Amino acid sequence: MTRLGVVIGLEVHAQLTTRTKLFCGCPVAFGGEPNTRVCPVCLGLPGALPVANREALRLAVRLSQAVGAKVHHVSQWARKNYFYPDLPKGYQISQYQRPLSSSGYLRVEPEGEPPRTIGIDRIHLEEDAGKSMHGSLGDETVSGIDFNRCGVALVEIVSAPVLRTPQEAYLYLERLRAVLRATGVSEADMQTGSLRCDANVSVHREGEPWGRRVEVKNVNSFRFVRRALAFEIDRQRATVARGGEVEHESRLWDEQRCETRPMRGKEELHDYRYFPEPDLPALVVSETLMAEAAHELPELPHARRDRLVRDSGLSVPDAHRLSSEPDLAEYFEQVVRVSRRPREAASWVLTELLGELNRRGLGIDQSPVSGEQLGELIQLVAANTISGKIAKRALALACETGRSPAEIVEQHGWRQISDQRLIEHICREIVEAHPEQVMAYRRGKSGLLGYFVSRVMARTSGQANPALVSQMLTRLLEGCSGGTGRE
Ligand SMILES: [Zn+2]
Repeated sequence: MTRLGVVIGLEVHAQLTTRTKLFCGCPVAFGGEPNTRVCPVCLGLPGALPVANREALRLAVRLSQAVGAKVHHVSQWARKNYFYPDLPKGYQISQYQRPLSSSGYLRVEPEGEPPRTIGIDRIHLEEDAGKSMHGSLGDETVSGIDFNRCGVALVEIVSAPVLRTPQEAYLYLERLRAVLRATGVSEADMQTGSLRCDANVSVHREGEPWGRRVEVKNVNSFRFVRRALAFEIDRQRATVARGGEVEHESRLWDEQRCETRPMRGKEELHDYRYFPEPDLPALVVSETLMAEAAHELPELPHARRDRLVRDSGLSVPDAHRLSSEPDLAEYFEQVVRVSRRPREAASWVLTELLGELNRRGLGIDQSPVSGEQLGELIQLVAANTISGKIAKRALALACETGRSPAEIVEQHGWRQISDQRLIEHICREIVEAHPEQVMAYRRGKSGLLGYFVSRVMARTSGQANPALVSQMLTRLLEGCSGGTGRE
């Protein structure tokens, strides 16, 4: 059988974090009463003229710099013409032949394979459309349109068609999301629609030209990216294997049925009749703006990850997880500033803290325990003031009550018992209470030490210093400290 190659390209739309829309002063917010954030410009009323939002340009330049793209000194707005009820002007202002920037890249690292550099063909600015809403009013089925989103600033990031597997596409998208968030360019949240993804997929016999591409629209959940692409690849492979031809079309990913299906009618394959936007001057990026954007560029996720591996000795997976979310990374760095123990901090943040937060449905930005407080807790463990087990209990209680873990340890008297005389006293009691086990131990069943240790720990509610207990018990059981007095 001929092997079939796969080519995937992603077109990602990210909503910029500007306070106002791309060409007017209407505020940007999620949700809210329909049609309350509109004006003549974003409603496309006759005679209204657009004015480009400088902040949107600044953010798009910052993103371009973050992915190493070449920002063009002069680019051009273009009209993308199509008719749709949620598009009042009958066209969308976008960029076409002269995008803001081109030739960027992102690095992805599929597990067990060498890293790959994925090219970004272009990044351009464009305005969003409104939203059609369908529902019922009394007995009637009605459709309404909400123009609040109309004119909101987006960047479109178009990857080169070089992704080969659904997993690579997923990793690319994950990396892009991390960069968008770290740079503050976009909240990049698929759930609220501030990150949206369309995929172009085609299969071809190896050594032959690429097949017809199918545009899979609406892949709007991270969980389904891989599934939607895998479905579409299988579908196209099966068609080719049957001797059929893949049609050039747009298909919609249906999350409920886990399949892609053709969009109604062929009119979805638009001829957009692009032409330069006559209402706006050329988009000029000055040297000053370039310098400002570069100055605002924070440490990027991959650079931070490499630093955490190099300077803090973290494992690559831990560093990757911590650096892909800016809030999580900031939290972690705060824990390290206090505890000065990066490896312990990584484990406490990624396993214990995130576990507690997940159970409560909280994000890292809502953590009841601050990075500083978790740092203090880690210090207490490192200084042997409390055991790891007690520390976990204190963390859980802190997440529940919102009180500081160190305070909880103090209040409950959970400090570890390291008082030699007290430990000796308790150990003696335990040994004396179990003469048969003592005999068995002395006859050679040395494994019984654990039996005694666990009894001492139970008696002290887990607070005795385990190393001291074991030392003391060994001494008593070996009989070199006066024995039990019952021999
Ligand atoms: Zn407006």
